[in-house]
Amino acid sequence: MRTSSVDLIILEALEKGHAHLSSHEVYELIRDRVPAVNPSTVYRSLERLAHNGKISVSDMGTGAEVYESISNGIHHHLVCQNCHRVITLEDDEVRTFFSSIQQKYSFQIVTNHLVLFGICENCRNKDESSAEE
Ligand SMILES: [Zn+2]
Ligand SMILES: [Zn+2]
Repeated sequence: MRTSSVDLIILEALEKGHAHLSSHEVYELIRDRVPAVNPSTVYRSLERLAHNGKISVSDMGTGAEVYESISNGIHHHLVCQNCHRVITLEDDEVRTFFSSIQQKYSFQIVTNHLVLFGICENCRNKDESSAEE
C-alpha cells in the first residue's frame, strides 16, 4: 500500500469526528480497513500529516500525543489537571493573543491546537468547600 493512501485513510478517519486519538487508537481504528498497516506506519503518517499542518498534535496530559483533524476549523483547549475535563476555546478567543505575539516577536505561530493546563471551576469550588470544613 502506498504511503499517501494511508495518509488519506487516516485523515478521513480523523475527519469523521474522532477527536484526540493517540497513534495507537488511530491504528485500531483503521487496521480493519488497511490490513497491511502496522503501528509504526500509522505513527509516521500521523507525524507527516501534523508536520504538513493537516492535523493537530498535542500533549493533553494523557501520557501520549493525541491527534485531531483541523478540517472543521481550528480550536484550542483548557484541560483540568485534576478531573481531566476538557474545555474547548474558539480560535477567535486565542487569535488576538497569537497575533500580538507574532507582531511583537516577528514570530510566525503554527500551533493549531493550543492546550493550556489548569484547574477547572468545579475542582476549585470543591477545594474551597473542603478547606472550609
Ligand atoms: Zn481538540
Ligand atoms: Zn476539574
